Amino acid sequence: MRNKHATQLIFELSTTGRSGVVLPECDVPVEDIKQLIPASLLQSQRPALPEVTEPEVIRHFTNLSTLNMSVDTHYYPLGSCTMKYNPKRNERIAAWDGFAQLHPYQSEGSLQGILQLLCDLQQMLAEISGLPAVSLQPAAGAHGELAALMVAAAYFSELGEKRTKVLAPDSAHGTNPASARMAGFDFITIRSQADGRVDLEHLKENLGDDTAVFMITNPSTLGLFDDQVEMIAELVHNTGGLIYLDGANMNAILGITRPGDFGADMMHFNPHKTFSGPHGGGGPGAGPICVTETLRPYLPSPAVSFCEETQTYYLDQGSEKSIGRVRSFFGNVGVLVRAYCYIRTHGPDGLKRVSETAVLNANYLLSLVKEFLEVPHGDRCMHEFVASAMPVREATGLKQPAMDIAKRLLDYGFHPPTVYFPLTVAEGMMMEPTETESKQTLDAFAETLRAIVEQSAETLHNAPHTTGIRRPDEVMAARQPIVKWTKTAD
Ligand SMILES: *Cc1c(COP(=O)(O)O)cnc(C)c1O
Repeated sequence: MRNKHATQLIFELSTTGRSGVVLPECDVPVEDIKQLIPASLLQSQRPALPEVTEPEVIRHFTNLSTLNMSVDTHYYPLGSCTMKYNPKRNERIAAWDGFAQLHPYQSEGSLQGILQLLCDLQQMLAEISGLPAVSLQPAAGAHGELAALMVAAAYFSELGEKRTKVLAPDSAHGTNPASARMAGFDFITIRSQADGRVDLEHLKENLGDDTAVFMITNPSTLGLFDDQVEMIAELVHNTGGLIYLDGANMNAILGITRPGDFGADMMHFNPHKTFSGPHGGGGPGAGPICVTETLRPYLPSPAVSFCEETQTYYLDQGSEKSIGRVRSFFGNVGVLVRAYCYIRTHGPDGLKRVSETAVLNANYLLSLVKEFLEVPHGDRCMHEFVASAMPVREATGLKQPAMDIAKRLLDYGFHPPTVYFPLTVAEGMMMEPTETESKQTLDAFAETLRAIVEQSAETLHNAPHTTGIRRPDEVMAARQPIVKWTKTAD
């Protein structure tokens, strides 16, 4: 069992009069302070800080850190999120003073190193995506979607075309419709066929001169590469619309195919997924976008550029058509430095091997899992696949077996897969092993899963049995989050 203290707040451990620090006496006379600082700004009461000793502080936070499951401590096959190992060397480099202590208001002359890194990264992303124009500003994949859809809106407005609709398949990530609405478009869901590919007939019915953008995740969140994508791009382009490629699944196709080559006009990368930035718990991330030459003038500004004449890097304020800033300064530079290190470390051949191994691992796991769970979309997948826990529902009568199995996995030290996404698979469990896992780990995970699905309904439904916190109320947590401690009357 885990230490119960780790689930208490540090405020709850507080005992009046305890202290972990010895501060020198204040050498400014109280009378002077009262003269220097207006009375209205002076606190009349001591701040409500926890009163604890140093060992209590250390134990509290050390224990707290062990409650979490992380890539560094557990296998983490969270589908769509690409929870690959984050190389520690990249962390060390991102923490170098030369990066970490930079100030964005420094003169360009004193920022040449980081500007060069960012400029090179723009070129690498252009090469990997097959789309030449890049903005590193967006702070996450979802933010990249929004920025790119704003680019599309600016482009159509320049053309004088009134295009109001953004379309995406039913397997799309929830950020796609959210970004479309935030960018001022109406959103239309396009059906998928039983085999997981886009239903072309339904797409055609919905395409028209009001179509702005078709957003496609390819490979999709089902882990399938939609081989109709070029045809889809042609259909959309023929109506004057644009193709947006949700690049969250780039880990499957690095160096194998390029969105720009299969018809995309715009895309985002999730460097924190594909290029191994640590992520989870809401950040940090980045969402660089790449677009065609035609769309370049509308990209967020500034972008990093190189001046041949002076041989210096500088911030290019861009064209008048630019949608302007979408984030302060240069973007989430720490994440971008890690991505740069990752790409440079692997090189073109290495990146291709990353994707090949990610796909191999996913197919190996699929072949094990299909023996005891349904895998509705076939025997082959890209970097991830979606299993269904419907057989467990039939055997046990449990209403939400995917959730129960996910919770039970925690008892065995495995982070659960993504559950109930995409919405098109009943009791879906989306597994993405990534390339950084060994055969032994995949075998152990599959064995555990096999054992779990045979356990009693009661055991599953009451899981997890061994964690500090059992089943938090997820609806309450989302709707009424309590994110800070408030002192209650004693
Ligand atoms: C993760 C993800 C996103 C959103 O990216 P963030 O970086 O989390 O904002 C969008 N689409 C898909 C398919 C994803 O997996």
